[in-house]
Amino acid sequence: MRAEIISIGTELLLGQLVDTNAAYLAGKLPELGLDLHFISQVGDNQGRLAETLRRAWDRSDVVLTTGGLGPTEDDVTREAIAQMLGEEMKTAPELEANLRAFFSRRGASMPARNLKQATLVPSATALPNPRGTAPGWWVERGGKTLAAMPGPPHEMQFMWEQEVAPRLARRFHDAVIVSRTIKTWGIGEGTVDEMLTPLLHSNNPTIGVYAKTDGIHLRLTAKAKTREAAGELLRPLEEQVRATMGGSVWGVDDETLEQIVGRLLKERGYALAVMESCTGGLLASTITDAPGSSAYFKGGVVAYDNAVKMAHGVPAQLIEAHGAVSAEVALAMAEGIRRSLGAEVGLATTGVAGPEPLEGKPVGEVHLAVATARGGQASRALYPGTRELIKRRTATAALFLLRRALLES
Ligand code: ATP
Ligand code: MG
Repeated sequence: MRAEIISIGTELLLGQLVDTNAAYLAGKLPELGLDLHFISQVGDNQGRLAETLRRAWDRSDVVLTTGGLGPTEDDVTREAIAQMLGEEMKTAPELEANLRAFFSRRGASMPARNLKQATLVPSATALPNPRGTAPGWWVERGGKTLAAMPGPPHEMQFMWEQEVAPRLARRFHDAVIVSRTIKTWGIGEGTVDEMLTPLLHSNNPTIGVYAKTDGIHLRLTAKAKTREAAGELLRPLEEQVRATMGGSVWGVDDETLEQIVGRLLKERGYALAVMESCTGGLLASTITDAPGSSAYFKGGVVAYDNAVKMAHGVPAQLIEAHGAVSAEVALAMAEGIRRSLGAEVGLATTGVAGPEPLEGKPVGEVHLAVATARGGQASRALYPGTRELIKRRTATAALFLLRRALLES
């Protein structure tokens, strides 16, 4: 089945908004067995939108739209769908009642403009939107399907999961695509590709190799009649990939590095403290992205100024002798913050985020260190890229260093 996505909104064409809705939906279609052929972006203009919808309706089996369901004059998605279908929009009494109830719960009366959110055409049914005012539309006619969803991502995603995906799964159950992502660290993209060469030639299941900031991700994908059958295809391939990649595999699917490190700390009953220079708080922020991190994360200090490093146990002579960007200072930072905050484990970053070199050290030189009661270990790296990327890579590398230390402890 051929699918296509239309993202609606002038903001997209002005470059003011990145089309994350299309990316989200594109990522969800394979598991339904739908082949995505086109993604289009179109402004809030009824004529051009109707034209885009017409082309999509003619060439695709499933059309998904996001945006333009609001109450304002520039929200014209309903009107354009009605125009494309040659059907008349009429107010649906039960939708109007829902809408009025929504406003009265908030102690307001419904503005007249909102009434168009209670309309339908004969081929459409409403998709509930508990997170906003605009219901979506589900249209079926002549073997074709169209789903119109709201623009705000949290509303759209909720409607997708609760309403649209289950309807599509019921309608097109001829094939499902199941994926498994295996996340690795420490081996370059080219080498990974080379190592997997013997496995890369199959058409089903397939392997995709993707470079991400947290390492190389391997996406294994299988297509079959049922979820179970697709799973059967994936299992032996996953075993082969794991055997090939060995210790470089650190996680699967939605697992994040901060969750994995958090789990290791919790299992060992260790508390963590961080002192960061070049990452400026990004490391602590990343650690606290994992829900429940208060169970093992004590806190951190952003020690940009050397005086702050010294206040948390880094000897002045060490900074003088080696410079703030050095393995020696990174180790002293990790040990200093461990003691200063009373944690079992200390983690530290120091480096040159750029764009200017520092202390005669090049942009991208970073030193990371982890310290426990049994001693410390440091690691040095030289990262290319912008300031933002260097900070991100440093925070990620620090978490990988921590992971290694925890696995060894
Ligand atoms: P509303 O009732 O909020 O007006 P709507 O369905 O009319 O919803 P739009 O007006 O098109 O949606 O977009 C509302 C907001 O949703 C945008 O300002 C933007 O923040 C977000 N949004 C819309 N489309 C996209 C998209 N394709 N990707 C990411 N965000 C989007
Ligand atoms: Mg709008």
